[in-house]
Amino acid sequence: MIEPLAGRKRTHRCGDPRPEHAGTRARLMGWAHRVRDHGGVLFLDLRDRYGITQVVFRPERLNAKTMEHARAIGSVWVVLVEGTVLKRPAGSENPDLPTGGIEVEADGLAILNESKTPPFPIEGANTASEDLRLRYRYLDLRREALRENIVFRHAITKSVRDHLSDEGFLEIETPLLVKPTPEGARDYVVPSRLHPGKFYALPQSPQLYKQVLMVAGFDRYFQIARCLRDEDLRADRQPEFTQIDLEMSFVTEDDVFAVVEGMLEAIFRRDMGRELKVPFPRLTYREAMERFGSDKPDLRIPFEIKDVTSVAGQSAFEIFRGAAASAPGTMTGALPVPGQGGASRKEIDAWEAAAKLMGAAGLAWARVKGGALDGGVAKHFAAGDLAARLIGAAGANDGDLLLIASGTRSLVQRALGHVRTLVGAQKFPLDPKDFRFVWVHQFPLFEWDEGRQAWSPAHHIFTMPLEEHIAHLESDPGRVHGQLYDLAANGAELASGSIRIHRKDLQERVLGVIGMRPEELKAKFGFLLESFEYGAPPHGGIALGLDRLVVLFHGGDSIRDAIAFPKTASATSLMDGAPTSVDPADLKELKIRIAAE
Ligand code: ASP
Repeated sequence: MIEPLAGRKRTHRCGDPRPEHAGTRARLMGWAHRVRDHGGVLFLDLRDRYGITQVVFRPERLNAKTMEHARAIGSVWVVLVEGTVLKRPAGSENPDLPTGGIEVEADGLAILNESKTPPFPIEGANTASEDLRLRYRYLDLRREALRENIVFRHAITKSVRDHLSDEGFLEIETPLLVKPTPEGARDYVVPSRLHPGKFYALPQSPQLYKQVLMVAGFDRYFQIARCLRDEDLRADRQPEFTQIDLEMSFVTEDDVFAVVEGMLEAIFRRDMGRELKVPFPRLTYREAMERFGSDKPDLRIPFEIKDVTSVAGQSAFEIFRGAAASAPGTMTGALPVPGQGGASRKEIDAWEAAAKLMGAAGLAWARVKGGALDGGVAKHFAAGDLAARLIGAAGANDGDLLLIASGTRSLVQRALGHVRTLVGAQKFPLDPKDFRFVWVHQFPLFEWDEGRQAWSPAHHIFTMPLEEHIAHLESDPGRVHGQLYDLAANGAELASGSIRIHRKDLQERVLGVIGMRPEELKAKFGFLLESFEYGAPPHGGIALGLDRLVVLFHGGDSIRDAIAFPKTASATSLMDGAPTSVDPADLKELKIRIAAE
């Protein structure tokens, strides 16, 4: 029954025919999306990447053999149909389909290929397990939601290329077989056959190379770059992901921000048909933590953390008094949750459990009612106008719920930040299409690494400290903030970058703080440092996670929904079975022996 294509060409794609084509001949090819056999008349929805056209087979117009073949068509068989485009009779149009005004009345049919029954339905809601869908990814990719994500990904990648090219950026490829890059995750390594016992790393990012490109004078670089990191996969991470990677010379962070804002504006206009308001608001890291308890705050949530340490310290509640006595290292913070005075004890208990998971000792609460406090810790605020002052300090109104935590400042901020996100998502209608971008900048340059008992870089070691902090680089590293920035939207981190150190002496001082020995430094990053000795310009850059942008702007549950062939949480590919073992002969050539467990 299967016929060869025999040179036949399509006249239309399945998404093309419209009422104005009525009366013309059509030859369509695609997959049998749905077949409805009404005994006599048979309807076939024929699908390809571009859409679906309804084909009708009428026994009175066709010879018995064609009709018999039509009735044999199974799910996702590959079919060629010839016929005439007809306007559908009034009342029988399908408003849900762009082609819904027409149907193609078939007078010829060729079956180009059969198919096994797919292990899960391609149409409708996807109910199959993700593992099954990953195993048969080519079928999963036929589903509309996933296919449209891939189409959208292409569109925004093109917009990025066009926009940045117009802005004078050059797309330059950097190597895949590299010396380890400084992103701080574990490297994927590739053994060298020509140099047995030596290994290349796969790049965690093009970081070092893009900086060298600035030394080389290219001024404005970008790349749609694959980054590979051998991390234990936390939720929504992939061992290989894609960044829109940028680097620019003779710039401050304002220039980098403006380029990214312009690029996102272009994506919004070209690919989403909407205007984006720029410039984006900016928060210092400190402000973001104080107000939102997060370095990627969701600005859609209509309440923020208020520092109520001093009023709460005058209450009769021992814990609040203690926090005030040891301030500023400790604090009492309150979340005034609008209109949630009626939240149930069960809900409050769940929020307290969440705060405790983040390390808080507990989560106190009180309702605001008639200008006074009610329930929870209200009784500790009975004296004088204390209750009214707490309400004032928290910026709360009648009907609100106060959620209060005390303890170490950073812990209280993080715990309340977590509760804010949780309550925000549960209780407020947060529109996923209301994109609230925010720059968070001036992060601390170093983080204290408990394990190593040493300072380590918060982003990477090439980040320039704030100029006014360079003086106390060695004497008080914890107080040094960097020219380091993130772009966040709606609680997701979308990009990270920094102004880089371009002077060897300063680079050596920073490396001294994290305790990296000069030999180690030379071995790892010697080529970059050496390049700095030949007129390195001031420079900086950023990288945006492309996969995440697709999911944020276009939908999906995880970045896997933006990647054609993603890996599972345990870094395997269920479709092709990677990773696999290697032929012992190949290992021998590489002089590699697998150690017994
Ligand atoms: N290479 C950095 C990263 O992957 C981004 C940057 O600093 O430009 O996080």
